[in-house]
Amino acid sequence: MFEKIVIANRGEIALRILRACRELGVKVVAVHSEADRNLKHVRLADESVCIGPAPSSESYLNIPALISAAEVTDAEAIHPGYGFLSENAAFSDKVKESGFVFIGPDGDTIRQMGDKIEAKRAMQAANIPCVPGNGDPLTAHAETNLKMAREIGYPVIIKAAGGGGGRGMRTVHTEASLLNAILLTKTEAGSVFGNDTVYMEKFLEDPRHIEFQILADMHGNAIHLGERDCSMQRRHQKVVEEAPAPGITEEQRKMMGERCANACVEIGYHGAGTFEFLYEKGEFFFIEMNTRIQVEHPVTEMITGVDLVKEQLRIAAGEPLSITQDQVRLMGHAIECRLNAEDPKTFMPCPGTIDALHFPGGPGIRCETHLYNGYTVPPHYDSMIGKLIAHGDDRNSAIARMQTALEEMIVGGIKTNIPLQREIMADNAFAVGSQNIHYLEKKLGM
Ligand code: ADP
Repeated sequence: MFEKIVIANRGEIALRILRACRELGVKVVAVHSEADRNLKHVRLADESVCIGPAPSSESYLNIPALISAAEVTDAEAIHPGYGFLSENAAFSDKVKESGFVFIGPDGDTIRQMGDKIEAKRAMQAANIPCVPGNGDPLTAHAETNLKMAREIGYPVIIKAAGGGGGRGMRTVHTEASLLNAILLTKTEAGSVFGNDTVYMEKFLEDPRHIEFQILADMHGNAIHLGERDCSMQRRHQKVVEEAPAPGITEEQRKMMGERCANACVEIGYHGAGTFEFLYEKGEFFFIEMNTRIQVEHPVTEMITGVDLVKEQLRIAAGEPLSITQDQVRLMGHAIECRLNAEDPKTFMPCPGTIDALHFPGGPGIRCETHLYNGYTVPPHYDSMIGKLIAHGDDRNSAIARMQTALEEMIVGGIKTNIPLQREIMADNAFAVGSQNIHYLEKKLGM
C-alpha cells in the first residue's frame, strides 16, 4: 500500500478519500485553492499545499501545480476524486510520466471511454447492448443520413463524439429537420468540444437511468456490485440515487453485471468504473462509461458493505481485489439525497456562512459532508455540499429513515434543497418507484 497520496479534489469527496486513507494507514496531502484553506479535510490532512487562486482553472485543474504538490511532499500517488481532472486522459498520462501513480485507469482507457463513438464501438465488441444506431461518424452525404434515420426510426438523437455534461446533443422528431440538426450539432460540437464528429442513434423517449458499478484489478479480476437507479434528475443532473434499482430481477442483474465485468477485462480496464444505461421496456442500452468514483457510490457501499474508495487504493497499489464475485451480497436498500447550497424553488446557487448545523443520525443513516458550523460555502465551485444516505431492510424502510433524517437535519445561514428532497421523499409516485428520467422535471413543472 502507498505511504502517502495527494487528494486532487475538494469538498465531501476529498474528505471521503481522506477517511479511506486513514483506515489503510496512508498519509494524506491535501491540496487546496486560496478560497479553500478552511476545508475540513485540509485541516485533518497530514500536510497541505495551496495550489493557486480560487478559480478552478488556476487551482484544481492546474496540472503542473498538482504534480509539484506531489513532488514537494514526496507522495506516491494522486487520487482525482470525481469532476475536475478525474476523467482527463492527459492528467492520467502526466501523473504517470512524472513517476506517480494515478488512482484510476490509464490515459488511453480514459481517452477511449471519453470518445462516445469509440466507447460505443468497444462496448458493441464486448457484447454490451447499445442504443440502436451503428455509431459511425456522420458524413456530409444527405441521402445516407436520411436513410440511416429512416432505418433507425424517428425520433433520433444527434450526439457529439466528444460531448459531455449533457451538452452536444440534439433530438430530431421529423425528417424535415434532420439535415439542419446534424449541421447545427456539428458546428456547435466543433466550437465547444474542439471535435465536430457527430453520430446518430435512436432517441429513447421514456427511459430510466440505471448504472452498474464495477471494480477491476490489474490481475485480470473484475466484479460487479449490482446496479443503481439514478432516474430522479433535473437538467441531466442526478438529484436522488438508489440501489438496487426497483423492479430489476436477480437474473437481469447477473446478466448485465457479468457483461460489464467481462467488458472491463476485454478493454484492459482497472479501477472502479460505472457503466451507464438507459433502461426502457425491459431492455438496457449503454450510453457511457465513467472511469472514476461517482458521487452516488455510497448507495452501493451500503448494500454491499464494500468500501469502493479503499478498493480503488488497493487496485492502484497493485493489490488484487479483496473480494470475489461470489462474496458480493446485496443487503436491503439504500437511497442517497444530494444536498445542494441552492434555492429550493429557483435552483440558484446560494453560497454563504453556515450559522447552525445539526446532522441526523440513527440506524442506517450516513452523512457525507465537509460542512461544519461557521464554514463558509465559497461561490467558486459546484453547489453540492454533501449527501445524506439512508439504508433499510427494504425500500420503504430506507425512505422512512430518509424522511426522518431530512426532518432532523438543520443547515442554517444558507438556502439548501432540503425542502425539495423532503418533497421527493413524500411523493406518491417516488414511493411506487421505477419512474423515468423525466419524472422530476414534470413534477417541478419544468
Ligand atoms: P454526457 O456525457 O453529456 O452526460 P450521455 O451520453 O451520458 O452524455 O447522455 C446524457 C443524457 O442525455 C442521458 O442521461 C439521457 O438523459 C440523454 N440521452 C443520451 N442519449 C440518449 C438517447 N439515445 N435517447 C434518449 N436520451 C438520451
